[in-house]
Amino acid sequence: MTELMRVIPFENMIDICLNDYYTKGKIMEIDEKYFFRGNNENLSMNYNGEYLRFPIGPAAGPHTQLCQNILTAYLTGSRFFEVKTVQVVDGREMMKMIPRPCIDAKNAGYNVEWSTELTVEEAKEEYIKASILLQVFAIELGLSDVKDFVINISVGYDLKGITSKKISDFIDDLKDASNTEIYKECIEVLKKNINKFKKFKLEDIEKITPHITNTVTLSTMHGAKPEEIFDIASHLIVDKKMNTYVKCNPTLLGYDNVRKILDELGYNDIVLKREGFDNDLQFDNAVEIFTKLKKLGKENGLNVGVKLTNTLAVYNAKGYLTGESMYMSGKPLYPIAINVSKTFAEAFDGDINISFSAGIDRNNVISVLKAGIAPVTFSTILLKPRGYINTNGIIDQLINEDIEFGKLNVDAIKELAEYAKTDSNYRNKGEGKLLEDTLPTFDCFKKNCGICVDVCPNRANIKVEDKHFEAPYQILHIEDRCNECGNCHLFCTRGGYPYFKKPTLYSTVEDFESSKNPGFVKIGENKYKIRDEKKNVYEYEPDFNKSDDEKEKIQVLLETIIKDYSYIIY
Ligand code: SF4
Ligand code: SF4
Repeated sequence: MTELMRVIPFENMIDICLNDYYTKGKIMEIDEKYFFRGNNENLSMNYNGEYLRFPIGPAAGPHTQLCQNILTAYLTGSRFFEVKTVQVVDGREMMKMIPRPCIDAKNAGYNVEWSTELTVEEAKEEYIKASILLQVFAIELGLSDVKDFVINISVGYDLKGITSKKISDFIDDLKDASNTEIYKECIEVLKKNINKFKKFKLEDIEKITPHITNTVTLSTMHGAKPEEIFDIASHLIVDKKMNTYVKCNPTLLGYDNVRKILDELGYNDIVLKREGFDNDLQFDNAVEIFTKLKKLGKENGLNVGVKLTNTLAVYNAKGYLTGESMYMSGKPLYPIAINVSKTFAEAFDGDINISFSAGIDRNNVISVLKAGIAPVTFSTILLKPRGYINTNGIIDQLINEDIEFGKLNVDAIKELAEYAKTDSNYRNKGEGKLLEDTLPTFDCFKKNCGICVDVCPNRANIKVEDKHFEAPYQILHIEDRCNECGNCHLFCTRGGYPYFKKPTLYSTVEDFESSKNPGFVKIGENKYKIRDEKKNVYEYEPDFNKSDDEKEKIQVLLETIIKDYSYIIY
């Protein structure tokens, strides 16, 4: 096992999605019954000139790194995608800097990862592929006849990096992808495979837009100086002509206020970093910066806003993740971020765009949007049991609402901010206990479980129905898609590590050999290399005429995959 992810080539992605859907009634492990088909034009908005059907979706993070993650979010109802941040440090260099596991979403959310682990070039390609894929499957699945989503890119972290050729080209290519190799390749793949679609037609290819984005969120380093934040945002507005949101830290609320909110909600165990509050941007400077940026935006015909908030850097007092610090999100961040929103709303008398990301869930989404804060994004809730399907719960709350997007409602935000400080939904309900590891390789549950499938942001665990076993399906781990974030372990009902213990499909011999998982890799026309449960490695030629009683369990499972799921082997 390695944390190295390999992206799915566009042609294989099309093949996987079509086969999954037409033979199994699901796509990327989302059953058709969870595809969100509702509509309410009262929820739509014009977002920087683009039609946005619902102003909700995944925040920059684990759910927006890979093309399949963005598609999965779209299927379950998301329409606003803040894709994972890019910076000059990328690919393997970034991967080595991230300790594993890197996510702990058991109670509050914590992580020790920040920007993409792909190269900036690969990230660009994933975002272009995703934009095209969504437009194609919106038509094929009857979800929308028009492009109804927005992709918002995110760049970090300092002036030198953001003005570098690498990041500058990234922005330019996503503003207009028509001359990129990947865009041309995707269009060719669609033409070549057009007969495989039932509803998506040749003439629909013409409607696909190469304009992937016109909006960027700026992420700066903790402790970034106000002048540098202003200079980077000015560069994005004036030189790159992007609608620009600047992500601010929750430290803007001040140490004492944050401590008080956390203590009153029972998070006494969260150890704050006082120096972070002292070194980060101060509120007076923030008001000065946004006053000047709003003017600059107006002069350039672009929208400017604030994104609230970044995660909160805290001491790693839990010790589950490694390193001195970790970044807090989820439930405890909501009352803090909504109080930061209040200070902005008051300071600008409601005349500032706020987009929001901090502990959004089905309980607060309506009030936050009704207060004029939009779009809203989320991540921690998608890491919990049900995973992406939790979006259904959020959007179900909204679907009958009539929301007018426009100026902030300062009084409503003040009320929300006050209420959040004692709202029992955001109280600390405890971690729950860690279970002893009793996870077997096969047949790990009697009744339906599949939690490790739902909670995986990358769709790296899948259900394989195989009648030769006792359980209705076996969990197959797909090595290419996994970055060892650890989320499936924390929620496994047998306390185990599905990404280490479950039968694993490899796409390269190199990956197979650098791993200890039981699993298989294709090495010839009808030839596979297998590592069985006892760690024996041998070559195997599937023989469908031989009785199953004469085969090892792993051989039986491999043959089922070859027969019924051949499209995932490439
Ligand atoms: S399989 Fe588990 S460890 Fe791997 S990416 Fe998915 S959730 Fe993370
Ligand atoms: S969460 Fe654990 S017990 Fe449940 S299906 Fe996955 S591996 Fe098996």
